[in-house]
Amino acid sequence: MALIVQKYGGTSVQDHELVLRVAHRVADLRKRGDDVVVVVSARGETTDRLVQEARSFTDAPAQRELDMLMSAGERISMSLLAIALNSIGCPAVSFTGSQAGIITDTRHTDARVLEVKPFRVVRELERGNVVVIGGFQGVSTAKDVTTLGRGGSDTTAVALAAALKADLCEILTDVDAVHTADPRLVPTARPIDEIAYEDMAELARFGARILKEEAVRFAERSGIEIHIAGSEGDAAGTIILEKPHGEEPPVVGLSLLERQTFLSARRADRALMTRWMEPTESPLLIVHSGDRIEIVVSPNTPERALWDDAGELDASELPSGVTAMDVDVISIVGSDAAYREVITRSIAELERSGIECICSVATGRSTLLVLPAASGARAELCLHDLLIG
Ligand code: ASP
Ligand code: MG
Repeated sequence: MALIVQKYGGTSVQDHELVLRVAHRVADLRKRGDDVVVVVSARGETTDRLVQEARSFTDAPAQRELDMLMSAGERISMSLLAIALNSIGCPAVSFTGSQAGIITDTRHTDARVLEVKPFRVVRELERGNVVVIGGFQGVSTAKDVTTLGRGGSDTTAVALAAALKADLCEILTDVDAVHTADPRLVPTARPIDEIAYEDMAELARFGARILKEEAVRFAERSGIEIHIAGSEGDAAGTIILEKPHGEEPPVVGLSLLERQTFLSARRADRALMTRWMEPTESPLLIVHSGDRIEIVVSPNTPERALWDDAGELDASELPSGVTAMDVDVISIVGSDAAYREVITRSIAELERSGIECICSVATGRSTLLVLPAASGARAELCLHDLLIG
C-alpha cells in the first residue's frame, strides 16, 4: 500500500464532468488500497477573474484581502471534488491549506512555505478517507491566510508529499509531459522522460509553465521525485529527479519568456535604476559590462505599471539615463548549453534568420539569449532545429 499525493490543475476540474472524472480516477486508486491525498487548483480562469474583480475597485488592493479572495478559488474545487467523491461511494474530506497545516511566512500573495504540520491529514487518512486539499494557500506565522504565488498549487503538492513522506508525487495536468520546447510553437518538440531538478527549475524560471520553479526547488531540497503526466490517459509523462538515467543529451530543452523588459543604464547611473526597481524584486538577469549595467525584469509587477492600457511599453516613469526595451528571453538548458560552441552556433543561426541577439549570458548548465520582442517564438523554432532536432 502506497501513499500517493496527486495534484490536479485548474483545467482538469473546470466543469462538472471533469470533476467527476477526477473523482473516479482517485476512487480507483483508493480501491487498489492506496492512501490518496489530492491537491486541487482553482477551476479554469477563476483566479484571474477574482483578481480582476478586486482591481475593479482599486489598482492596489490590500494584499491580505487579495489572499482571502484568491484562496476562495481553491476552496470551491476542493469541496466540489470531496462532494463528488462521496457521491460515488469514496469517503473524502476537504481541507484548506491552513487546516492541512501549511505554515508560511507573512509575505502576502507570494508567501514561502516554512513548515508543514499535516496532523489532520494523517488522521483522516488513517480513518480511510481520501483527503482533498486546496492548493496555493497556507496560513502565516501571523495566522492570516496567505497564497504561494501564481501556480502555487504545485508547491502545495510537493510540500505535502515531503511532509507525509509520500511514495509518489504526481502533478496531473492538461499537458502530458515536459517537452523539449513549447509544443504549441515547435511541432517537433518531444516529451522528455526524465529531467534533473536543476534543468527543470531553469526551464520553469524562464517560461515553461507546466510547473512552478519554487515547487521544483522544494522537491530538490526534500529529495522528492515529481511525476508529471496528463490528467487523462496513461502516457508515461516526465519524471523530475536528481540525475536522469541513461545518456544525457547535450541540450535538454528550451524555454521562452516573452515580453520582458530590458533596462540599460550607464554604470554611473546605476543608483537611479536600483532606486526605481522594487527593493524585493529579483531581476531575471543582471549584466555589468564595460561602463554599462543591464537588467531584465518582468513587467508584470502590479505596483509598477510599465505597460499602458494599450499594451505599449510606457517609459515615462523611468528615470532619465535609463532606457527600456521590450524583449523576449530564450533559455537553452543542458550539460553543453553554456559551451562556447553552442552559443556561437546559436547566435549565428539566429542571425541567418534575421534575429539579432541583444545580449547573451551563460552559466553552468544554461545560456540565456535576450532577443528583440516578438522574435522569441521564431527563435525557439530555429534553435530547436539546430540544437535538439
Ligand atoms: N489558482 C492559482 C493560480 O491560478 C494557483 C494554481 O493554479 O496553482 O495561479
Ligand atoms: Mg500550474
